[in-house]
Amino acid sequence: MDLKNFFHKVKEELTHKEAKALTDNGKGEIKHAPKVESQSHWIKCPSCESMMFFKEVEHLHHICPKCNFHMRIGANKRIQLLADEGTFVEHDSELYPNDPLHFVDSKSYQKRLEEAFSSTGKTSAIMAGSCTINGTPVELVIFDFSFLGGSLGSVEGEKIVRACNRAMEKKHGVIIVSASGGARMQESTFSLMQMAKTSAALKKLDSQGLPFISILTDPTFGGVSASFAFLGDIIMAEPGAMIGFAGARVIKQTIGKDLPEGFQSAEFLLEHGSIDMVVDRSNMKKTLGDLLAIFAKDVA
Ligand SMILES: [Zn+2]
Repeated sequence: MDLKNFFHKVKEELTHKEAKALTDNGKGEIKHAPKVESQSHWIKCPSCESMMFFKEVEHLHHICPKCNFHMRIGANKRIQLLADEGTFVEHDSELYPNDPLHFVDSKSYQKRLEEAFSSTGKTSAIMAGSCTINGTPVELVIFDFSFLGGSLGSVEGEKIVRACNRAMEKKHGVIIVSASGGARMQESTFSLMQMAKTSAALKKLDSQGLPFISILTDPTFGGVSASFAFLGDIIMAEPGAMIGFAGARVIKQTIGKDLPEGFQSAEFLLEHGSIDMVVDRSNMKKTLGDLLAIFAKDVA
């Protein structure tokens, strides 16, 4: 089955399953939707190892109340966190990847895409849409690390370019929240091309005097950090996020030297002038709202 048909089929199955869970218990009686137990009641902070009640951590936007460790969150949660309620309108969700190289490593790319789609319900590692943040309109692009490690493929690149085009049409800014291992190796040169393509689109945005704010979250690496993620007019990161090009172990092996403490952390990058701000997740929306309002005045 080709990928297009596969995506349609799984989408239909998922919709059918949801509808069935809501209405049918075999006797034609209406029943409540099953409670999704995505997490156990207790979770352990990966940093300080404190045991915490899941609901409490969820309420705190997945920040550890004991040590301020910022846990990874998906695109949907990020939208809830940043966009004004009810304003996010998703675009280009119908774009789906294909497999021009028929790439196979330990598994075929097609199989990997099918598995990622079945487990996440998404056809790409990006959700892109229009929304307002504290009342200022903006194009918001968010990476989801759970889809093939947030890797940058042709669809992801195209979605970023379309977001820039929409921003230029409407004369407002773009925000990209990155969480990515880098370019998608299964698409080889097609994915590397996205680095140039997205950079060119952001250059156009810049030439019209429109702002691009780049937010780096844990982790941001490879072709993403080597292209658009570091082209922001303002580049901010979440506390403790690991950000770099190659991983620390590879660098250490290559140069044969120990790396400084805190290497590749958001705080280290701030100290060395690579980024502009480290912003707590709980202050992210307010900070973005303030910056967008300043830029919007500039554009007007
Ligand atoms: Zn902690």
